[in-house]
Amino acid sequence: METRRKIAGNFKKFKELRPQAFIFAKMQKEKPNIRTFSEAELKSWLADQGEKAFRGRQIREWLWKKHATAFDEMTSLSKELRNKLKAHFRLPALQVSHLQKSRDKTIKVGFRLEDDLLVEGVLIPSGGRYTACISSQVGCALGCRFCATARLGWNRNLVFDEIFDQVALLEKVCRENYQDKLDNIVLMGMGEPLQNYENVRKAIELLTGEGGPGYSPSRITLSTVGIIKGIKRMADEQVKYNLAVSLHAATDEKRSEIIPVNRQNNLEALGRSLKYFHEKTGTRITLEYLLMDNFNDNPEDAAKLAVFCRQFPCKINLIPYNPVEGVPYKTSEELKTLRFKTLLEKRNLVVNIRQSRGTDIDAACGQLANTQKKPGLRGKSGRPGTKTT
Ligand code: SF4
Repeated sequence: METRRKIAGNFKKFKELRPQAFIFAKMQKEKPNIRTFSEAELKSWLADQGEKAFRGRQIREWLWKKHATAFDEMTSLSKELRNKLKAHFRLPALQVSHLQKSRDKTIKVGFRLEDDLLVEGVLIPSGGRYTACISSQVGCALGCRFCATARLGWNRNLVFDEIFDQVALLEKVCRENYQDKLDNIVLMGMGEPLQNYENVRKAIELLTGEGGPGYSPSRITLSTVGIIKGIKRMADEQVKYNLAVSLHAATDEKRSEIIPVNRQNNLEALGRSLKYFHEKTGTRITLEYLLMDNFNDNPEDAAKLAVFCRQFPCKINLIPYNPVEGVPYKTSEELKTLRFKTLLEKRNLVVNIRQSRGTDIDAACGQLANTQKKPGLRGKSGRPGTKTT
């Protein structure tokens, strides 16, 4: 009896603390999400319903290739079968809830999830190419000091179909606004992809596999803050997509100050895991480095960064930091940015300076969600304009 009361108490507490997570869990117990069914499972369900097995492939095509968002869109199926599908399954799909266009043509999109939470994606045009930046979690638990998403806290992981949908919808936004197709996909939005790796992996499989939209893995980049266990797993799986690491500092002292998870994933271990990743996949790694005035933009920082980079083939993206209220870091001066670049180039490193994009529309992830007072999303400040191409 006592145990039961305890469980009931914990349940009540959970419901109060995480109302959205509770709603989501409840929703998942209702009609099953059809997109979690494999083709074999669908065929078996169709057989039980006295339907032909080949309908399974047709349904999968509607879901993943044609991105149907309602059963009635599946016009190659009979009305009777569509009604059966409606009666047995749900077909949740992300909705575009906000769309903001920047002067530099960057488009920020807010996606409303089935449980009414919000995540963000960004379409970034650059040099005739279009990049979709998507989220992997609702909020984030890692608490990086420069990041607006960190202020939301962590609410829940995105499910693989929610990750997939962001790409499908950004592709649509790209075609409607620029009459062009997406070129690249980066998992650099809200959340740490390696903290939700199973769903990220499945979404990438669907995006690149047969029966889906068929994006090339070489055009997909997973960006992590440096979760060593996840990097090793990607290496062992010999993934075909690219890896980017948000490095932002080349000493443990500085890196732990802005990225707390560095304490458990220090630079020495991170360097070893990146070397291992390169050995296993043959892929060159991208290092992202936000330049902050008098914090990480001095010649000694450049020298230490160069030593770190010697361990594996890489290219470095330098990104001028866009300051945010309440955060003590400032933008590096232009001259210092150029000096930093030159110092790295003198050490034979490949370096690009990336411009922040969509700063007039708060394109960096976490900013839009921070302004929406949705249950489960906390805080109200913004993230620096670190959205780059
Ligand atoms: S920078 Fe990335 S890992 Fe760090 S808090 Fe923000 S979303 Fe999470």
